[in-house]
Amino acid sequence: MNVRDSEHMIAELNQKEPYELTQNLKEADLIIINTCSVREKPVAKLFSEIGVFNKHKKEGAKIGVTGCTASHLGKEIIKRAPSVDFVLGARNVSKIKDVVDKKHAVEISTDFDESSYDFAEYRSNPFKAMVNISIGCDKACTFCIVPATRGDEISIPSHLIIQEIEKAVLTGAKEVMLLGQNVNNYGRRFADPKEKCDFTALLQNISLIEGLERIRFTSPHPLHMDDAFLQEFASNPKICKQIHVPLQSGSTSLLKAMKRGYTKENFINRCDKIRALCPEATISTDVIVGFPNESEADFDATMEVLNHVRFEQMFSFKYSARPHTEAADFTNQIENSVSGARLTRLQSRHTEIIDELMDAQMGKIHKVYFDELKANARVSGRSDDGKLFFVEGSEELLGQIVEVKVIKTSRGALDGVLL
Ligand code: SF4
Repeated sequence: MNVRDSEHMIAELNQKEPYELTQNLKEADLIIINTCSVREKPVAKLFSEIGVFNKHKKEGAKIGVTGCTASHLGKEIIKRAPSVDFVLGARNVSKIKDVVDKKHAVEISTDFDESSYDFAEYRSNPFKAMVNISIGCDKACTFCIVPATRGDEISIPSHLIIQEIEKAVLTGAKEVMLLGQNVNNYGRRFADPKEKCDFTALLQNISLIEGLERIRFTSPHPLHMDDAFLQEFASNPKICKQIHVPLQSGSTSLLKAMKRGYTKENFINRCDKIRALCPEATISTDVIVGFPNESEADFDATMEVLNHVRFEQMFSFKYSARPHTEAADFTNQIENSVSGARLTRLQSRHTEIIDELMDAQMGKIHKVYFDELKANARVSGRSDDGKLFFVEGSEELLGQIVEVKVIKTSRGALDGVLL
């Protein structure tokens, strides 16, 4: 979502005056640090980055801090780092043109409704379009700062989503990535209360767009994976067979403390359903290790889910207490050394699973959509189920979907030959 927010800011700024992106800090007239605050580390890094940019920037260049950390720290950022010219929250992206020229402007309202804002066009990759379908989150997971930084959930009107995808298809995109905190809760709330459309209906409508060949989405919530949605996922040929099912913990009691709304058994049931309806699908997940009160038995339950589902991809982290969250005040925070040891166990087991899954890919054939030129006359792309492929080739391959046979496997990617 932050990548798409950055694209929106670039597009809006270009409406005001022609900006050009530069990788060279000394050339920049404007430096925007678009931040995340889901974990503690990036927040700590923000102030050291501001210091580095301030020291090396061109004279008169402005620095703006945007995104979730901007939302939660607000004017505190300018107090701690007066070299920052403006602060713009994750839910105020459309105001970038206003704040860029106002010294020490702070726009961080989480009530601001930009769900119907028609952003100007800019895409970093013409072959793939990222499209927001909702803003904010109505859940209250006790570890998560997002509801405090991105505000209440609001869905973007479906006609605007369709219009945006149609525009992207006209300029070369065959694939769309639908973005939201809880995509499959789409339709929960619209600015216009008369609008009605759920996620399954949205997927059906999007798949009617001519020229669009692939639909991806992230992140769905396990709680909203009803049978109708999974049926659509499995049977709609335009929907890529890759699905993120964020676990967080395999322990039902910790899931309750996290306020996730499902049990270990519900979670496994949904994953089993996906495997039954769509055996070719890959399932990825998120896991938090060392949530307050996590016992060895709780952690073992997480290991059991990993061994049962055998996730093709797993994003796993040690719990970090975040401000504005309930869990930050929970007693029995787990010692860093204990969380670290558990994380190592979890990741080592997952590495074994990945190695087995990737080795089994040898000789398999996939349809790969190529979208990026790489060094040494190579091109990369993704299979329908989300695997990263590299082949020898040139720019003629970009924007093409081609059958590829796997000739070499590794943990993170596959090498192939065109058929
Ligand atoms: S569903 Fe939970 S983890 Fe996801 S953004 Fe909302 S509060 Fe955070």
